Amino acid sequence: LYLSFFLLSAALVAYMWRDTFDPDSVRGTRVLITGASSGIGEQMAYHYARFGAQIIITARRLEALKKVAQKCVKLGAQKMMYMTGDMSDPADPERVVKYAVEKLGGLDFLVLNHVGNTNVEFWNRDADHVRSLMQVNFVSYTQMTAAALPALETSAGSIIVVSSLAGKLASPFVAPYTSTKFAMNGFFGAMQSELAIQKSNVSVSIMILGLIDTESAMNKTRGFTTMTAYPASEAALSIIKAGASRQKEAFYPWFHYFTCLINNVFPFLKDLVLSGLSIDNKD
Ligand code: NDP
Repeated sequence: LYLSFFLLSAALVAYMWRDTFDPDSVRGTRVLITGASSGIGEQMAYHYARFGAQIIITARRLEALKKVAQKCVKLGAQKMMYMTGDMSDPADPERVVKYAVEKLGGLDFLVLNHVGNTNVEFWNRDADHVRSLMQVNFVSYTQMTAAALPALETSAGSIIVVSSLAGKLASPFVAPYTSTKFAMNGFFGAMQSELAIQKSNVSVSIMILGLIDTESAMNKTRGFTTMTAYPASEAALSIIKAGASRQKEAFYPWFHYFTCLINNVFPFLKDLVLSGLSIDNKD
């Protein structure tokens, strides 16, 4: 019974995820990407630029943003702008969206990708860190969504949310991070239903990523996981494709769909696997 269930889901998934992406569908679109000074956000900016989009990137580091913007211009961005913003400051999410909508004359894609700094370790009982990480990783996402919705309603636009396997499977050593990603999945999952009930033309795509080889992820997870890290540029392209095809939920690498499925069917397996985990602790 389980085997036929998995085979049927595999066939369904293969059908749902067949590659129908047309780069022309992104040409000229107005895109705001957060957390684009490095990592996956930076790679998304380069892809959107190659596809000829009009882009605004944001993060805290001005010099890093400038460098990414210069490369985007060379790659073919139709319009390229950058703006600094700190998502731990409750005023910045709205300020950044307002600026983008004004400068681009509307918005087609709101790509929520930024992530605050957190350690990979057993939880150190710092509840204040959980609170501040919630602001950066989650509350600011909801603030930007609130500010962008009117423009997205006008353009029949899309919100793309970069989430994680850690938002589907409660993951050890990153309790504050995993909490913010669960909150994100819950909120944007509810948004998908509410927008459908209201017959809104705005789509929400939630992207579930496995381990990706960005510098920050590699530095932090060294010694804590034996998972293979996949290329940031490929991850970035899958996110853009999921958003352009208005997929509700997408996975990169694809097989993490099954990681989540298996975890839902056999939840006890996770603790069984983790109980055998030995930590090559850095300290
Ligand atoms: P990086 O650490 O490489 O990049 C994070 C980005 O967020 C940077 O541009 C950083 O810029 C920005 N940022 C950090 N703090 C703030 C802040 N307070 N205000 C505004 N911007 C901020 O992360 P990744 O590229 O690895 O991750 C991108 C997304 O992918 C995240 O949502 C992450 O959770 C998700 N993900 C990543 C995985 C991985 O293995 N890499 C796995 C699963 C999900 P600056 O410092 O200039 O502000």
